[in-house]
Amino acid sequence: MSFSLIPHSVYQTYLQITPQILRSLGVRLLLSDLDFTLAPKSVRAPDKAILAWIRELRDAGITVMILSNNRSPARVEAFCACLGISYVGHAGKPSPRGFREAMEKAGVTPEETAMLGDKLLTDVLGANRSGVLALMVEPAGGAVTFWQKVLHALQVPFKKAAGKERS
Ligand SMILES: [Mg+2]
Repeated sequence: MSFSLIPHSVYQTYLQITPQILRSLGVRLLLSDLDFTLAPKSVRAPDKAILAWIRELRDAGITVMILSNNRSPARVEAFCACLGISYVGHAGKPSPRGFREAMEKAGVTPEETAMLGDKLLTDVLGANRSGVLALMVEPAGGAVTFWQKVLHALQVPFKKAAGKERS
């Protein structure tokens, strides 16, 4: 178990994460955060870009599952129903509990799993604690509120360290 806050790699948007990249990393299960990772919190339904991205990954044999701490199951449920994918809600990230549940559901090992998210203290820390590859994205829709901007600034040095930890 690693308590590292350093992601494996950082992307501008989830759209940059291609089946080729995931395959090269040996990933068969991609866990994804929802809010500010795939869409800003105000967006209620997935757009065409997300649908196409999920389809492309699925066609490449990669399972996508949402791992969300969202307290409103209705939002996660509706979003995932539109995408035709399953989810683990109330995941309690950074606890490894939700990660384990998702990997068990998909029948994969931590070495075959990656977590995509926008937050260090939940998504990245949870992934590292679970032995899962931590992929990070800049917040969808950008940092808007004061606290989002503060959080964003605090995350910068850790994002800069991405990839330097591993060979
Ligand atoms: Mg998020």
